[in-house]
Amino acid sequence: MTEEFTPLPAVVRDVYDVVVARNPHEPEFQQAVHEVLDSIVPVLEAHPEFVANGIVERIVEPERQIIFRVPWTDDAGGIHVNRGFRVQFSSVLGPYKGGLRFHPSVNLSIIKFLGFEQIFKNALTGQGIGGAKGGSDFDPRGRSDAEIMRFCQSFMNELYRHLGEHTDVPAGDIGVGAREIGYLFGQYRKVTNRHESGMFTGKGVQWGGAEVRTEATGYGAVFFAEEMLAVHSETFEGKRVAVSGSGNVAIYAIDKAYQLGAVPVTASDSSGYVVDDAGIDLDLLRRIKEVERGRISEYVLARPDARFVEGARPWEVPVDVAIPSATQNELDESDAQALIANGVRAVAEGANMPSTPGAVAAFQKAGVLFGPGKAANAGGVATSALEMSQNAARQRWSFSDSEAKLRAIMQRVHDSAYAAAERYDRPGDYVVGANAAGFERVAHAMLAQGVI
Ligand code: GLU
Repeated sequence: MTEEFTPLPAVVRDVYDVVVARNPHEPEFQQAVHEVLDSIVPVLEAHPEFVANGIVERIVEPERQIIFRVPWTDDAGGIHVNRGFRVQFSSVLGPYKGGLRFHPSVNLSIIKFLGFEQIFKNALTGQGIGGAKGGSDFDPRGRSDAEIMRFCQSFMNELYRHLGEHTDVPAGDIGVGAREIGYLFGQYRKVTNRHESGMFTGKGVQWGGAEVRTEATGYGAVFFAEEMLAVHSETFEGKRVAVSGSGNVAIYAIDKAYQLGAVPVTASDSSGYVVDDAGIDLDLLRRIKEVERGRISEYVLARPDARFVEGARPWEVPVDVAIPSATQNELDESDAQALIANGVRAVAEGANMPSTPGAVAAFQKAGVLFGPGKAANAGGVATSALEMSQNAARQRWSFSDSEAKLRAIMQRVHDSAYAAAERYDRPGDYVVGANAAGFERVAHAMLAQGVI
């Protein structure tokens, strides 16, 4: 982070100073807290009881943080040690809920920023889920299936004791998909002797998983953008869309954008991006990333009219809608300026906190419709909560019913963020709207449940 944060109003400044002093080496966590505190100032002014009851002081401190050793053996017999994390941030609205991320960049700051955001995202969905996040600095790239399995088993050998359908329900995130969830769930079942469907979401649809969970985050981000456009009587029809990333979120954002008549033209990974003016070939992208687990540069071998741009991000490509779906801080102020100069109309964050504070400010100043991840990518976790409902009732809903439910949830998330922004005199500001609406729900529950 090179951008400076704007100074905070007095009502939240002391809390923020404590967060910085207590978590000095955690820039991403500080960034996420700063954004929320900045947004909720009008809520605190309207609700002095939140201030008097120390709601903000309490919400910025996780209820519990677990850090553990994850030793595992590679195929050649070499021993590795990774660090595992689970930050259980808030269970005031329901069991802790949030994904696991396996990526070499993972550290406590990253997991805490994600866990903190998750509280408000989950609150916005209107469902009964608390906020948490976990993961490891393990790098799955280049590892065999057997190595992945042994790592997942070792990870769960510690984490199982902190989980449970009424306690903490993980899911996937970057580097944790169907394969990893299978191994993690299998080990939980083995060590606890319980087939407890509701203790993990994102499971395979043959063994307790929910239809649409795989598609939900990407679909949801597009649904959210569709709602923002609809306020201005616009649709996706004929719009060019830039998507970053090539994982689960990106793939299904591209899929849904096509279904709504748009032309998604980019995808990326950490090596660079591809731009295909004819529209991304989704089958090809899926084969490269999901089946072969290869690099995005391979895309142009099969599509000679497409271009691979090494070491860059897709924000220089002229588009009407951008859906950053890779990772945190992947779109900075200069990227935002490039998008704005090219006439971007809407940005919906498929990833968590992909836009830097400078980028967000630039979009808002330019009047670009901006849907923050907390709201725009809430479809994934919302569908996880639908999975929990189905598990509890031992039911299985159809794809079309589940997608209709997701669509309705995204509409609600949009409308509650939109309405909160209006209520607090910041019309069209979905950052304030999402943070305020999520925070209000959490704060009321904390108030009701006492100082714990
Ligand atoms: N990792 C996803 C997120 O960032 C999904 C979490 C879940 O389904 O629990 O919201």
